[in-house]
Amino acid sequence: MSGRSTPGRVTAAALGTGLGALGDLVLPARCGGCDLPGERWCATCRRSLAVAPAPHPWSPTPAPPGLPLVWTVLPYDGPVRTCLVNWKDAERRDLTTVLAPLLSEVLLAALLTCPGRPVLVPAPSARVNSRRRGDHPLRTLLRQAVRALPRAARPPQVPALRLCRPVADQAGLDSRGRAENLSGAMVVTEGAGRRVSGAVCLLVDDVITTGATLAEGARALRAAGATDVLAVTVAATHRRPAAH
Ligand SMILES: [Zn+2]
Repeated sequence: MSGRSTPGRVTAAALGTGLGALGDLVLPARCGGCDLPGERWCATCRRSLAVAPAPHPWSPTPAPPGLPLVWTVLPYDGPVRTCLVNWKDAERRDLTTVLAPLLSEVLLAALLTCPGRPVLVPAPSARVNSRRRGDHPLRTLLRQAVRALPRAARPPQVPALRLCRPVADQAGLDSRGRAENLSGAMVVTEGAGRRVSGAVCLLVDDVITTGATLAEGARALRAAGATDVLAVTVAATHRRPAAH
C-alpha cells in the first residue's frame, strides 16, 4: 500500500494542523508571557525583550567542575520565564517562534568566538514526560533558530547526547543534588562519535540553572573527542537566597 496521501484521506498530521488553525480562530491565543488574550506574544512582553542585554558569557555561583563557557541572553524571570515554562511544560509549542530569534542571537555570538569546526548538540531531556511523548521541543527550537542564521554560519545539528541511566527530575534538587543526579549520566551515541570527535561542540539548552546539565554534557562530549565545548542557552537563572 502506498504511503502517499490520496484525496479524501486525511492524515493525522494534516488534521492536527487544521485543528490548530481552527482553534486559533475560535479561541484567540493567549500571550505566552503574561496570559493576556488576543495574541501569542503581546506588545508589553515584546517591549520587555527590547531592553534585553546583548548575548554575554554567564556563570552560576558556584559553577560545577567542568562547566564550559556559557553564552546566554536573558535572565530567567518575568515573561521570559513564563514563556519558557509554557513552551516546555504546558505544550505551547507555538511559542517556539518567540524563542527561536533569541536563541539565534546567542548562537551567532557564540559562533563568532568559535574556532574550528562547530557542531550544535542539543542537551538531552531528563524529563520522563518528554521522552514518553517522543517529542523534542529543544531540537525543534534549535532547528528554527539555525534557519535564522546567515547561510554561511549554519553548523549541523547533531543530537549526539543521550542519557545512559535513569535520572530524577532536576526540578526538586539543589545544586549539589543536581550534579550528583547527572554525574556520569550522559554518553555520546555510537553513530555521532565521528561527528563529535575533532569538532567544537556548542551544547544548547533552553535555560541554565545550576549548570549541572551542561557540565555533564560537556564531560561526555570531551570524552568522545570534542576539541572544545561551549554552551548556549536562551536564559539563565539568577538564583537568590531563599527568604527567611
Ligand atoms: Zn504578554
